[in-house]
Amino acid sequence: MQAAGTIHRISGSAVEAKGLSRARMYDVVSVGESGLTGEVIRIESGLATVQVYEDTSGLSVGEPVLCHGHPLTVELGPGLLGRAFDGIQRPLSSLLQTEGDFILRGTSIPSIDRERLWSFTPAVHENGSVTGGDILGTIPVGSRMEHRILVPPDLAGVVVEIGSRDLRAEDVVATVEKEDGTIIRLSLISRWPVRIPRPFKEKTSPDHPFITGQRILDTLFPIARGGTAIVPGGFGTGKTVVEQTLAKHGEADVIIYVGCGERGNEITEVLSDFPELEDPRTGGPLMERTVLVVNTSNMPVAAREASIYTGITMAEYFRDMGYNVALMADSTSRWAEALREISSRLEEMPGEEGYPTYMGTRLACFYERAGLVQTLGTNNRQGSVTIVSAVSPPGGDFSEPVTQSSMRIAGALWALDTSLAQRRHYPAIDWTKSYSLFVDRLTPWYVEKVAEDWPAQRKTLNRMLEREKEITEMVQLVGEDAIPDSERILLMGARLIRENFLRQNAYHPVDATCSMQKQYWMLVAFLKGHEIVMSGLDDEIPLESLLEMETLEDLARINELPDDLFPNAAEQVLDRLSEEIRALGEQIRTQRARFEEEGSDGQSAE
Ligand code: ADP
Ligand code: MG
Repeated sequence: MQAAGTIHRISGSAVEAKGLSRARMYDVVSVGESGLTGEVIRIESGLATVQVYEDTSGLSVGEPVLCHGHPLTVELGPGLLGRAFDGIQRPLSSLLQTEGDFILRGTSIPSIDRERLWSFTPAVHENGSVTGGDILGTIPVGSRMEHRILVPPDLAGVVVEIGSRDLRAEDVVATVEKEDGTIIRLSLISRWPVRIPRPFKEKTSPDHPFITGQRILDTLFPIARGGTAIVPGGFGTGKTVVEQTLAKHGEADVIIYVGCGERGNEITEVLSDFPELEDPRTGGPLMERTVLVVNTSNMPVAAREASIYTGITMAEYFRDMGYNVALMADSTSRWAEALREISSRLEEMPGEEGYPTYMGTRLACFYERAGLVQTLGTNNRQGSVTIVSAVSPPGGDFSEPVTQSSMRIAGALWALDTSLAQRRHYPAIDWTKSYSLFVDRLTPWYVEKVAEDWPAQRKTLNRMLEREKEITEMVQLVGEDAIPDSERILLMGARLIRENFLRQNAYHPVDATCSMQKQYWMLVAFLKGHEIVMSGLDDEIPLESLLEMETLEDLARINELPDDLFPNAAEQVLDRLSEEIRALGEQIRTQRARFEEEGSDGQSAE
């Protein structure tokens, strides 16, 4: 603790303090006798305005205010995975245990368990030189990960002593002597100010997709590892389901899930549901690679505002170890509203719809912390932070400021559509409005890892969806009977694709996620299937027979077959379809021959 001052004025969660002469912007302070945590957000004519993270009722003028002399920081170390925290990293489970169902004001429970023993294996030797970002040693966590303890970014020197085996979080793990002779003792815990991005060597251009297991995303609107995507949508369109499905099935080493409380019970659901979820990759609990940061809408606004920074700082910490991290934020609109509330208490000049004019810049700074990076340290490591954030525009109107600002920044837009959701077409991602700016950069990966003709298949799919739209508009004018048979078949093919490829039930035991291999072969099956049906027109098979082919039903249900049956499942269904068409063609030819024969019989009889 540094300087002490006193409360001068209280206005909601904003408190003015005098006598804090040495406080700087964003310094953390303890307010009042009960020691509520807050952050300095304005300093003006000898008064510091403090945004308090907790309920301020009961505070009175004259109570002490203590400045900690450092900005809001998080504790980083082993034991973060598997835990749930509030917006300023207070552990929720231990709070629930100690305080019952609510968080008692002013409680300070350490974010990282101080008692637990960690089995540490050193990765450096005594007398070896180390520099910021180097791995000091590792601790096994969960069933397949190791927690890497790193040399802090700004430190370089020679290892004087290195620990091993069972250590508590605060025990000295390494002693490092700097060039100037200073001795630095490192523990398993480090701290980092949440509003400052953690350093790295360099950002590299993303070239690997963050595979989500959702066909419409991976095939049509992919996001790169280290990229950003936003999921705007009105109430009930499926934002939370998208976020949670990606947390479960997305290919990431670590998931940071920031829940900003859309509805009161939603967070309780997150807290009770997540620990039950199974990691499809390991069979172990999903929480083994997940950190939850949650705020309900009834927690103080400032904690909600801080939560995305708390989340992203933890994400960067795991990135620096060399992991691919995905941060799911649900939703950043609640964050923006918190910012608006704070700004209005400060009586700042409001911008559009009352949001402060700097809202867009703040959002950009947050998304800027995503990326694929070359980490600090001697051994080359790559790590990434991918951000997928939900946006909840009031009334589903995308023209509002938070959606608009987010759209300007994000690399992919997955636009949820109310009418699709009403028709229970989930995920309700509107393929006409959504986009991904990553497609070109990711194409080489798809070509190499999935199939050489992936770009061609994807293009055909896009073209088909466009044609469907054009033809549907035409049908509305002239009626279905007035359009050519080939277009009727295209409508059928496009419908199959919409309903069985683009649609994906998040709760289906098999279809909830879909490997790239299966996505590709399903797409091939639908596109090729459509061509086969179309070829029936050349054989003059009647349209009705073509649209009612039995194999089309098998094709429609191909999504329900498990990944490992592909490509065989796709090839088989196409073979059957070809066989059915051949048989239909045969039938037509026989009928025609018989007809001609009868005709000529008739003639000869005449
Ligand atoms: P939002 O967060 O946008 O308000 P939710 O994510 O809570 O909406 O979704 C509302 C409901 O829509 C869910 O409870 C679920 O029944 C349905 N839903 C959304 N997405 C899917 C999906 N991919 N598969 C099946 N059902 C879905
Ligand atoms: Mg929601």
